[in-house]
Amino acid sequence: MADSETGTSVDFVRAMIAEDIRTGKNDGRVHTRFPPEPNGYLHIGHAKAFSLNFSIAAEHGGLCNLRFDDTNPLAEDVEYVDSIMEDIRWLGYDWGDRLYYASDYFDQLYELALQLIREGKAFVCDLTSDEVRHYRGTITEPGRNSPYRDRTIEENVDLFDRMRAGEFDNGRRTLRARIDMASPNMNLRDPVMYRILHAAHHRTGSKWCIYPTYDWTHGQSDSIEGVTHSICSIEFEDHRPLYDWYLDELGIYHPRQIEFARLYLSGTVLSKRRLLQLVNEGHVTGWDDARMPTLSGLRRRGYTPASIREFLKRVGVAKTESVIDMALLEHCLREDLNRVAPRVMAVLKPLRVVIDNYPDDKVEMFSAANNPEDPGAGSRELPFSKVVYVERDDFLEDPPRKFFRLAPGREVRLKHAYLVTCESVVKDEATGEVTELRCTYDPESRGGEAPDGRKVRGTLHWVSVGHAVPAEVRLFDHLLLPDDGEGKKGFMELLNPESLSVLTGCMVEPSLCDAKPGRTYQFLRRGYFCIDSVDSQAGALVFNRAVSLRDTWARISKAQAGK
Ligand code: ATP
Ligand code: MG
Repeated sequence: MADSETGTSVDFVRAMIAEDIRTGKNDGRVHTRFPPEPNGYLHIGHAKAFSLNFSIAAEHGGLCNLRFDDTNPLAEDVEYVDSIMEDIRWLGYDWGDRLYYASDYFDQLYELALQLIREGKAFVCDLTSDEVRHYRGTITEPGRNSPYRDRTIEENVDLFDRMRAGEFDNGRRTLRARIDMASPNMNLRDPVMYRILHAAHHRTGSKWCIYPTYDWTHGQSDSIEGVTHSICSIEFEDHRPLYDWYLDELGIYHPRQIEFARLYLSGTVLSKRRLLQLVNEGHVTGWDDARMPTLSGLRRRGYTPASIREFLKRVGVAKTESVIDMALLEHCLREDLNRVAPRVMAVLKPLRVVIDNYPDDKVEMFSAANNPEDPGAGSRELPFSKVVYVERDDFLEDPPRKFFRLAPGREVRLKHAYLVTCESVVKDEATGEVTELRCTYDPESRGGEAPDGRKVRGTLHWVSVGHAVPAEVRLFDHLLLPDDGEGKKGFMELLNPESLSVLTGCMVEPSLCDAKPGRTYQFLRRGYFCIDSVDSQAGALVFNRAVSLRDTWARISKAQAGK
């Protein structure tokens, strides 16, 4: 569908909302909300949901509330509340003064439940949860009425009051809506509205021992807040008739629920329950482990808010579910970091190079641009001396023809510095391992240019041994291995045992000595690396590889275009 003003296409959610505005619904108002349950950290799937809600409101000069759906005290925690707010703000969205909690409405919800009871539309049921399940029937068979369904209104009011007063044990009774046990929609088969749970709540303390279910809470909270469009993920589509039933029977303001497809990403899992399992069982170091698809994990890994927003824009909003390739997310990060990340030199697997004809104690400073993509980023001075480190895999003793890096007798450029030629190789006598290269340099090639214009194809990054700063570097792979294509393997069986590899003894240039945690750099020829915000310290730097330089997404999209 085309947007008449911009000529760009709009998704179906935006089209529906535009239609509501055109027909004058809600006096043209747009008011959305994001309703996370504070039982875990937000992941990038949640980001899809909240960026959609906040963006749509902003596009229409409307409002978007943040509402914690805190109806299950057993799983919820203020740690989660705080992290959720931090992550939404980090991505660049703001709920202003509209921070709400479903628990703020517990009194109103109780009154509304009493209203349904008094109208004969809700009843107290004594069936156990197993019995309720049994009576519910199946998709092909209708359910059976609860034997408690026809209690008198007086009895229901009395029992509900005593449920609230704490007279009954956990699970002993429920309040259920009285709808239709034969409905083809299972959600309408007398759904539970309240359950008894003697548990303290992080906001209401011990005031309540009955807690409302999600379905009973959600639409009424939307209504109380004057939300016009309740945008949620597709699994709630079958709940919409119930959402509508409650609001219609209560006769209160009726927002419109619209469902969109959830985000799925290859190589990872977007389910709080499973992410919590990874945390609890120690497969990761926490919710903010740099391998996690949580916003805190992505942030620690080196993802920028701009890259995530761009990714979500490209994924778009649709009704049908699909798995998005992680390579697209990485591509978006690479594009953003290419623009903004300073370039530095870091040697991950160092090999000593001694330049025999360079004066012993001399140190020269070479100027290096911080970002060729951004002239405004300035430059810095790099110290060069007689002994430098290069990358161990930039040397081969017996190279194939097209290897343009170091090998006996070959000349390469040390970036920003000089041309050097490998003259001999020093090995450990016992193991045969190469421990050092002896080179000579061309004093006329200052800055790395051959004085006679001779061709030198290889350019290596390096750091001066006397100035280098040691660092630990963490490399990551996907949390999950690709499944067998048949979905037969369980999630735990797919855990990638090699999702983390740690390189110690890496050497980085001295300008990084006092770099701030959370900053991201391009290590020339090696990828983008972010200083770990938890474990890195001055003198013991720790870098996370955010993403490599190899753009698999470009390859995938090229292959798709060629199909
Ligand atoms: P999970 O399934 O990971 O436990 P949830 O849906 O139970 O997530 P909520 O806190 O209820 O977690 O989610 C808040 C909102 O985020 C919901 O409206 C839900 O629709 C949306 N959401 C959750 N996961 C995704 C996803 N993968 N893609 C898009 N939206 C999502
Ligand atoms: Mg949910």
